[in-house]
Amino acid sequence: MEKILVSACFLGKKVRYDGKANSLSGEKIQLWKSQNRFISICPEVSGGLDTPRPAAEIQVGHISDIREKSSQSVTQKTHPRRTVLTHQGIDVSDAFYQGAQIALSLCQRYKVRFALMKESSPSCGSHHIYDGSFSNNKIIGDGITTALLREHGIEVFSENNIMCLANKLQKIETAPEE
Ligand code: SF4
Repeated sequence: MEKILVSACFLGKKVRYDGKANSLSGEKIQLWKSQNRFISICPEVSGGLDTPRPAAEIQVGHISDIREKSSQSVTQKTHPRRTVLTHQGIDVSDAFYQGAQIALSLCQRYKVRFALMKESSPSCGSHHIYDGSFSNNKIIGDGITTALLREHGIEVFSENNIMCLANKLQKIETAPEE
């Protein structure tokens, strides 16, 4: 059975920058929990940041951060290293990259091929991130952890396309063995 790497805040862990969770419920989430599929991580906490912590955003300075609006365009593309700053201008990039590496190591250790990550987070976002101006503006792009997972062939889904993940799992797990 396929395991799923999941953003810890989806499972009710109060690890968001503001000390809250992003709890997800619903039939598929309950099913996957009961099947013990989830491997949970908060990359920012794993990278050494506290909870609560100052909000941080990726500084969008590279043209490659702006992706075409298609799910294909955000897969398997190598990023240049990006800078993540708090609102106060503190550089927290190292913690973000360390957390991403830990997430990747977990996937490799448990042979995880799919992830369910919180949209728009500077770590976990998969289609949108904030633009670095702390003005609540979103742009097309992915977070530091999501980008690293994708570079290693792991498919990343969000709360907005859970059924795509469910369909994928069903297809794989009901396919006749060769
Ligand atoms: Fe949730 Fe990811 Fe943010 Fe951690 S880094 S709080 S798992 S969205």
